[in-house]
Amino acid sequence: MNDDAIINDPLSLSPDTTLQSAVEAYAQAEALFNSIGDGAIATDEFGHITKINHVALDLLGYKESDALGRWFPRVIVAFEEGGEKLDMIDRGFTQAFLTGKPVTQKVWYRRKDDTLMPVSSTISPLVLSGRPIGAIAIFRDISREYEIDRMKSDFISLASHQLRTPLSAIKTYSHMLLDGFMGPISPTQKKSLKTIVSASNRMNELISTLLNVSRIESGNVIVSPKNVNLNHLADEIVRELHLAIKTKHINLHVHAPKKPVIIQADNLITKEILINLLSNAVKYSPDGGDVTITVQPRKSTVIISVSDTGLGIPKASQPQIFTKFYRASNVVRRETTGTGLGLYLVKGLIDALGGKIWFESIENHGSTFYVRLPRTYTAKKTNTTNGLTSLDKHNSSSRKL
Ligand code: ADP
Repeated sequence: MNDDAIINDPLSLSPDTTLQSAVEAYAQAEALFNSIGDGAIATDEFGHITKINHVALDLLGYKESDALGRWFPRVIVAFEEGGEKLDMIDRGFTQAFLTGKPVTQKVWYRRKDDTLMPVSSTISPLVLSGRPIGAIAIFRDISREYEIDRMKSDFISLASHQLRTPLSAIKTYSHMLLDGFMGPISPTQKKSLKTIVSASNRMNELISTLLNVSRIESGNVIVSPKNVNLNHLADEIVRELHLAIKTKHINLHVHAPKKPVIIQADNLITKEILINLLSNAVKYSPDGGDVTITVQPRKSTVIISVSDTGLGIPKASQPQIFTKFYRASNVVRRETTGTGLGLYLVKGLIDALGGKIWFESIENHGSTFYVRLPRTYTAKKTNTTNGLTSLDKHNSSSRKL
């Protein structure tokens, strides 16, 4: 028998040696637990805290006696971004026990002094022979990242506002020159002025997107629910994008019930969502491609889909498609214009309306994006804070596809 076999098979050891190994393993685990640089909390299978390291105690402001033996969710109270207490079912702790898998969340933990601290926490269930025997929560204070993120959003918002004023001067004077208010212009000058106007329209659109992204990120978008007639809205977005549709010889089909489909939502937000999806469908379609908008009313929801026969999204890119600034490799290669912000914004807006978005796509065959919106809007609690603004309006007809 070689040395490896002796170490790998504890049953081959004498009882004394087995006990010694178990004690050593325990001491090692204990040392490891206490030396973790992040907060660490262990629980038994009922969720009672069995161990808590110094970092966790420091971060939460607790003494060991405040936590040991107590039920984890009672000691570690978690809140959502907007200050709403997280429902028990949504807590990483519950999800980890229910699914048997580690769950990572960004939430706010309440300290002993009642202040809130943003944390990134991962809760892993401990499973032995298929049976949960406890859980380990590891969490990190992300106040600094949070603050940097907030400063970034504030900066984007401020910079975008400041860019608007000089841009509108450029647009106004270019239009005046184009329209001959300052004397006759030659065809070459006219061509250059048209390029300036179209570039400043594009810049205006980018500023709107950046402003809306920063509003979404800071939870500052107000939803003004009204009755939105989806049949009219579909016609409106098609009208607004008619130039691009015509230029690319797209065969556009709209399938909507004859009877108007009316939902309670914010008109501007719903329009922004659909314009983004339709302009993507057109942009990523070949000349002469087919694009179909379908409106399907369900009992308490409506499903709107925008489908194309275009480039499609490579399988490897699909998980990242709603990530900020992400553009799939197949479109980057073709150098079509784009920022990778549209779908990120669309997802945030759909969340604000209480809806869902998903898609199906096959590279080189096409994509279908589905949006499910509730027929009746229910306000999210985070939408009731002060300082909210409505969405910045794109000048959609100027979209360069
Ligand atoms: P972009 O400004 O690049 O269009 P979006 O956020 O709107 O940004 O979309 C992100 C990426 O998703 C795009 O760059 C593209 O790779 C992919 N995508 C979105 N819609 C489609 C579509 N209809 N067909 C193919 N790819 C798409």
